[in-house]
Formats: sequence, C-alpha cells, structure tokens
Amino acid sequence: MKKWEDNIRKVVPYVPGEQPNEPEMIKLNTNENPYPPAPGVQRALETMDAGCLRLYPDPGAHDLTAELARYYGLSEDQVFVGVGSDDVLAMCFLTFFNSSNPILFPDITYSFYDVWADLFRIPYQRPMLDERFHIRKEDYFRENGGIIFPNPNAPTGVEMPLEEVEEIVRRNKDVVVIVDEAYIDFGAASALPLIKRYENLIVVQTFSKSRSMAGMRIGYAMGNPVLIKYLNDVKYSFNSYTMDQTALLLGQEAVKDEGYFRETLGRIIETREWTKEELRRLGFRFEDSKANFIFASHESCPAEELFGALRAAHIYVRYFMAPRINNHLRISIGTQQEMETLIRFLQKYLKKYEEK
Ligand SMILES: *Cc1c(COP(=O)(O)O)cnc(C)c1O
Repeated sequence: MKKWEDNIRKVVPYVPGEQPNEPEMIKLNTNENPYPPAPGVQRALETMDAGCLRLYPDPGAHDLTAELARYYGLSEDQVFVGVGSDDVLAMCFLTFFNSSNPILFPDITYSFYDVWADLFRIPYQRPMLDERFHIRKEDYFRENGGIIFPNPNAPTGVEMPLEEVEEIVRRNKDVVVIVDEAYIDFGAASALPLIKRYENLIVVQTFSKSRSMAGMRIGYAMGNPVLIKYLNDVKYSFNSYTMDQTALLLGQEAVKDEGYFRETLGRIIETREWTKEELRRLGFRFEDSKANFIFASHESCPAEELFGALRAAHIYVRYFMAPRINNHLRISIGTQQEMETLIRFLQKYLKKYEEK
C-alpha cells in the first residue's frame, strides 16, 4: 500500500441485489413492487415543467413532509424525509448513535446496519435470533448505545408483536430506538402510534416497496420534534438539498391515492398467501412472513443449487452466502402470474428430489 493510503477511510461496502435487465425475466430478488406507482404519479411526471429544475428544490421539503404528516395525523415537525430510507437510516446512525456503548441489532437482519456502523465507527453487538429466526426481546434489555431492527425483520419476514416492540422501547429510555418499517404496509402492526408516548422512538418507512417507487428514492422518519430537529441539523450539515424537485412532486402524488395503494397491497398480500401454500406443498419450510417476500429453505434441495437453476431460467431470487442462512432463498412477491410461473418451474425442477 502507498503511504497516502494510510489516511483513507476504508470500508467494506454493502452489496445491493443485482439489477439484471432482460425482457422476459422474472425479478424477485430485491423486494420491489410488481405494480406501477399510482396513476397520479404518471400524470404528474407527464405534466412536470422542466423549467422548475432551474431552481434549487425546497431544502425543507415542506410539501412532501406536510402531505406525509397529514396522511399519518402528525405535525410537520414530526416528519423527516430523505433519499430513500437508506439515506434516512444513515442520517439516523450519524445523529443518534454516538455512545461508546455498542448499539444493538440482530445477527440476521438488513445487511446495511453493520456497514453504516463500520463507516461511522460506531461499536455494535449483534444478538442472535432464536432458532426459529425470531428476535429475542430480552437480548435488548442490557446496557447499549442505541437499538435498531426492522419490523418485520429482513430477510426473514418475521413480525415482532407490537407489545414486544413497545417493551424494548420502554426499557431503553436512555437511548434512541429505531424501528425500520420498510415492509410494514404488507400486514404487520406499526410502532407509529407509540411515538406520542416514547420520545426515544424513531419509525422509518419508505416509498420503495409498498408504494412502488424504489427508483424515485424516497424514505422518511417519524418521531418527536426534538429527534426530528437533531436529524435536520445533521442533514443540513451534510447536504441541504437531498430531495430533488421530481421526488418532492411525485412523492406527494403517491400519498394522495389511498385507493390505489390499498388495492395493490391487497393483491400482493393475496398472492403472498397463495405462494406460501404452494411452497409448503412443494416441501419448502419458512417462518410466517408479513413482508412482500418469503424466506424459505427446501427440505432436500440445497438453496444454492436452486438459486442457480432459477437464475438459468431467468427467475431471479436472492441468496445470501452467510452463516445460518446459506440454505435459504429470499423470494420477493411478484404478480400472481409471475408467482405461478415460479411455482410451475419449481414443480418440475424438484421432481428429481421426490424419487428418493
Ligand atoms: C429495502 C430496505 C430499506 C431501504 O429502502 P430504500 O429503498 O432505501 O428506501 C431499508 N431497510 C430495509 C430493512 C429494507 O429492506
């Protein structure tokens, strides 16, 4: 290594799921929504005046923040928006996790948490999920510098009951607890109502999954005004204009169409439940999922083999070569038709395992 490399910040980066682009592929590897965004988003995009791009966007992102506040029955000073929840979560790590005590998050969880912790030099510990991949709340009752976990957890899809979330928040009043609710709209109970009672709670959500806008990059945090102010102070110390004009406009349109939101969510949930039954019948095992994906292993076919076979058939799912989960596949819920194609492929492929 060259001398000048001594003073460089070295990190092991997060590895996002691949984004192949084949005409006939079935893409079930990054938990995107198979349906397009609300029709109002398309209309707004078509009528948007490029002239508005001449100006800087509103640094406070007031219109979008106000729309979200209205939607959730909050005041504007309880909402913070950012460039996808990855940006919001990174700002949260930077703002709230500054203790010399380790922060806590599960050993099996969103694989960005340890990357941010390393990037920002935050010490951390990772309590193990139990053998059924459930978070053990007792692991979070010890001294720590802050807590973060997704609910439902990723990549397991397992929901933590709201009473347990509350217990963790209640027993950690001296630190900030972040609940990452990227998948909450697919059927789990949100911790949002708790922000009124617990000033140490931050709830983070995203437009990427349930609102079909992964490509637009919009995420948001909700919490008491003091926490939100601290977040904004850090944001303005980093980049005042995180949200571009297009995201500010299209984000509002997505929130306005509750009917479309409920309808597409309903379809995905219905397809998820159908897929669970079919997978069970084929010999897959998994914990119940409240997200838009299923994290499953097969009783006889190794996950890595199946991953490769699916890929060769242009069906993309996610495989993590990590301890404890390297015999699982994370399968996002696509359209009903896509899932039927997946199941047909699996029926054929797994035949050779039946003959034993
Ligand atoms: C997808 C995901 C995110 C990030 O989503 P953005 O696209 O950055 O909003 C955050 N946390 C979890 C657990 C996720 O699965």
